[in-house]
Amino acid sequence: MADTTASTTSRTVPSHEDRPVYVIGGGPGGLAAAYALRARGVRAVVLEKSDQVGASWRNHYDRLHLHTTRRLSALPGLSMPRSFGRWVARDNVVRYLEKYAEHHGLEIVTGVEVSRIEPAPGGDGWLLHATGGRELTGSAVVVATGFNHTPRIPDWSGRDGYTGTLLHAGEYRNPAPYAGRDVLVVGVGNTGAEIAVDLVEGGASRVRLSVRTAPHIVRRSTAGWAAQFTGIAVRRLPVRLVDALAGPMAKLSVPDLSAQGLPRPSTGLYSRVNEGAIPVQDVGIIDAVRKGKVEVVAAVEGFEDDKAVLADGSRIDPDVVIAATGYSRALEGMVGHLDVLDGRGRPVVHGGRSPRNAPGLYFTGFTNPISGMFRELALDAEKIAKTISHHTPSPTPR
Ligand SMILES: Cc1cc2nc3c(=O)[nH]c(=O)nc-3n(C[C@H](O)[C@H](O)[C@H](O)COP(=O)(O)OP(=O)(O)OC[C@H]3O[C@@H](n4cnc5c(N)ncnc54)[C@H](O)[C@@H]3O)c2cc1C
Repeated sequence: MADTTASTTSRTVPSHEDRPVYVIGGGPGGLAAAYALRARGVRAVVLEKSDQVGASWRNHYDRLHLHTTRRLSALPGLSMPRSFGRWVARDNVVRYLEKYAEHHGLEIVTGVEVSRIEPAPGGDGWLLHATGGRELTGSAVVVATGFNHTPRIPDWSGRDGYTGTLLHAGEYRNPAPYAGRDVLVVGVGNTGAEIAVDLVEGGASRVRLSVRTAPHIVRRSTAGWAAQFTGIAVRRLPVRLVDALAGPMAKLSVPDLSAQGLPRPSTGLYSRVNEGAIPVQDVGIIDAVRKGKVEVVAAVEGFEDDKAVLADGSRIDPDVVIAATGYSRALEGMVGHLDVLDGRGRPVVHGGRSPRNAPGLYFTGFTNPISGMFRELALDAEKIAKTISHHTPSPTPR
């Protein structure tokens, strides 16, 4: 069925006849893949559920900057302007993504959410079920729906009965609504750490940061050397070696915050990355914790009598709880039936490889690399385009 209702920035709307490659998601990963395919003469159509490209970046909090460098965050075929500076602000990331789509004249259909992918009847290509009963058949499919897809708040006991303000970090924009208020931020990934600092600077009366496992903290840049450079340099080294090197480096560059509740982690830096926890890049958290402006408290276990119950048995009574507790990939509904996900709900392969039982189905953006996600998205885009342009196999019906 041709899509006639969804808005589009492009000239044509996909039809059954020409079987393009469908790219699901108009974030940096999807846009890069679409460009790389087009550059190799393969027609690619991006299906984006929201009404504009870069939806995730439009919704991130105001003060966010890329912590990867401008040059190493550019997507294939278009550099980011120098005027964006070394650490690109969120608004400029959005501008760049808009410009990227326009500059390359990408075919993008917005307002279309893909709910399920299955082998096309006859085994030739993939059938996509999308918003409004649409059925679209592509010769291949690139899934680029984002690592940070669906906000996840732990199923804390007593959560439903809690009457205080509880929100996910994905809903946080800036500190203005929290000025003069007592806020508990739960989770010390990059997002939780930066929101805590933002709240301090924005005038919250008290900011506590709930930490289950102390994170590795690294300086974003030391004497001009970006942490990302190190991430790229060590990426292919043995995990134990990187763990061994990272310990002394951390001691040199990051003060001991044990007295403030953030001891140095017992598990090595790269081992933690492999468990899914990338290091926290310091954009003010070290100073804020050292000066007591952000108070570290134990992990939240649940809620009782409108108080947060912490793992050390204490109970605290903040005005607001912000759960910086991550996201899920939420790929189960779309591809769970194809047996292409691992136990954590992540695709079993990514980049230029398709799962063995699902040839022609590609995934990008579902790893959390130490070298920077934009950079990996750019590399994956080229690999996917190269494979597809050489060979677009047919899926085996299951
Ligand atoms: C706060 C934060 C800061 C980050 N900072 C950096 C950084 O500094 N450097 C770096 O390299 N990486 C960073 N990342 C990681 C990563 O680069 C970004 O998350 C990036 O946006 C991922 O791009 P993506 O295209 O894979 O996913 P997204 O940008 O999330 O795009 C996915 C798109 O798919 C759409 N979509 C989802 N489901 C469907 C569906 N079913 N049908 C159709 N469309 C759908 C969404 O609307 C969205 O537009 C950061 C992530 C976060 C959360």
